Amino acid sequence: MTGTQTKPNRFDVVIIGGALSGAATATLLLRETPSLRVLILEKSTAFTRRVGEATVEVSTYFLTHSLGLTRYLNETQINKNGLRFWFANQLTQTIDQCSEIGGRYLSRVPAYLVDRAALDEEVLRRAIALGAQIRRPATVQKVELVPGGEQNITFKIGDSVEEIQARWIVDASGVSALLARQNGWWRANTAHPTTAIWSRWKNVKDFEDPHLAKQFPKWAMQCYGVRGTATNHLMGDGWWAWWIPLKGGDVSIGVTFDQRLVDFPQDGAVGDRLKSFLMKHPVAQALMSEAEWTEGDVHWRKNLPYFSTTFAGDGFALVGDAAGFIDPFYSPGMDWISFTATRAARMILAQQGGESISEAVADYNRDFARSYERWFEGIYRDKYEYLGEFDLVKPAFLMDLGFYYLGVANQPFKRGEKALCEPVFSTTPSVPFYRFMRFYNRRFAQMARSRRARNALGQKNDRRAFMFGGYTFAAGSVFPIAKAIINWAWLEITEGWRTWFQSVPVAAHKPVAATVPEVA
Ligand SMILES: Cc1cc2nc3c(=O)[nH]c(=O)nc-3n(C[C@H](O)[C@H](O)[C@H](O)COP(=O)(O)OP(=O)(O)OC[C@H]3O[C@@H](n4cnc5c(N)ncnc54)[C@H](O)[C@@H]3O)c2cc1C
Repeated sequence: MTGTQTKPNRFDVVIIGGALSGAATATLLLRETPSLRVLILEKSTAFTRRVGEATVEVSTYFLTHSLGLTRYLNETQINKNGLRFWFANQLTQTIDQCSEIGGRYLSRVPAYLVDRAALDEEVLRRAIALGAQIRRPATVQKVELVPGGEQNITFKIGDSVEEIQARWIVDASGVSALLARQNGWWRANTAHPTTAIWSRWKNVKDFEDPHLAKQFPKWAMQCYGVRGTATNHLMGDGWWAWWIPLKGGDVSIGVTFDQRLVDFPQDGAVGDRLKSFLMKHPVAQALMSEAEWTEGDVHWRKNLPYFSTTFAGDGFALVGDAAGFIDPFYSPGMDWISFTATRAARMILAQQGGESISEAVADYNRDFARSYERWFEGIYRDKYEYLGEFDLVKPAFLMDLGFYYLGVANQPFKRGEKALCEPVFSTTPSVPFYRFMRFYNRRFAQMARSRRARNALGQKNDRRAFMFGGYTFAAGSVFPIAKAIINWAWLEITEGWRTWFQSVPVAAHKPVAATVPEVA
């Protein structure tokens, strides 16, 4: 620890942004070294509703084991029951005719559906209880980075502008990505032109609605779990929509689409357009006919993915969305927070403990750059090409999720918090898996493109159900992966051969996304 703590304008760590990634980093720092002077500067007076409402296995471990939120989550949020996917085509008129992928029973590894405004406020409250200071509403305007020295921060609070110094800056400013933009490190990921539109809705029917069960008894009895507390996904060509119930009754529903593939409706209020877009899907017709979007809570974000070319230096670290964002499919956002916040806290604590950290800084930059690139290439590049295809998503989902369970999610549960210092695909043993995942995801995208060219999309999207037993961390979970590989091999033999030697090019961008006004 340095000996200058007594100066009121001088801190050991200043954190820009007090939402989940910032407050979590403060918690990890103060839990380990309570004497650190940590200041959080947060722009908002109170958090409003935001996306990022489904945790997955790694982020659940982080929230429960690292941040100690189990009781809070159980008392105030909803237990999540896996992922479900719903597919439609011209033959599907009703919900029971949609092809479905999902668990037959409840999930065995915990996860939650969370109201992020409430959760983030609670994590911030706990960081303050541990000793973090907070200035709010305070907007950081400028940061002058001094490698190995004192960082200068200028922020606005009320009508006055203040300057403070800190040995470390943690940038947790989310999509504002303050340090990355200020220093010219911010890059758009133009290979993945996606847009998301969302709101919180009232009067959405439950999947377990008794009228539906009466109308479609066989369909209702196909699942022994609770369909409604999964993250449900409505799937279409080039798009998917999430469906997340929140404590208190609202449902978060939004769509993400690939701008190259989807024509989004152009006229009317954005909430109405979102509803009319979704209402083409029989699941929305069954559950959303009376639904109303929330005035003032309709959001639109274009060109979602971006990254920073620098993630850390001697005196600063980027965490959460301030470091980069790829895609919300499979809800990896809070996993990224778990890895970046854990690693940033360890690096800062090492320096504060007197260790030389030049190697830790270089490793931080290398590991998160690798992780971002491989995570994108292994799972997301061109994925939206095949998201509307039941028979392609089924093996892809089984492999994506299976490898996540056996290579990523099991790690913190079996090895503890130190596994959160190894971001996805950053270690040598993970490389063959990354390459394999990149290969099969490319192949499914190719098959879908070939179907599109032949006007043969969606032919298996009606009246099929894959009710999955669910993954665990046991070795037996390799069997569904093996079956999925056989399923994929069969698809290659029966139709994939068309693109073995000649690939179908990526579709051109549709101009429509540019015509929808930016709301938030
Ligand atoms: C459509 C969509 C769906 C998603 N769904 C999921 C999901 O289901 N699960 C999941 O895990 N993730 C999901 N994500 C990702 C998730 O929302 C983010 O990863 C997460 O919210 C990032 O948290 P954060 O704390 O890094 O940033 P934020 O939550 O954006 O917080 C940043 C904070 O910094 C403050 N701030 C900004 N600039 C300044 C400044 N200059 N001075 C002071 N304060 C400042 C802001 O006020 C804010 O409070 C989704 C993302 C999108 C786009």
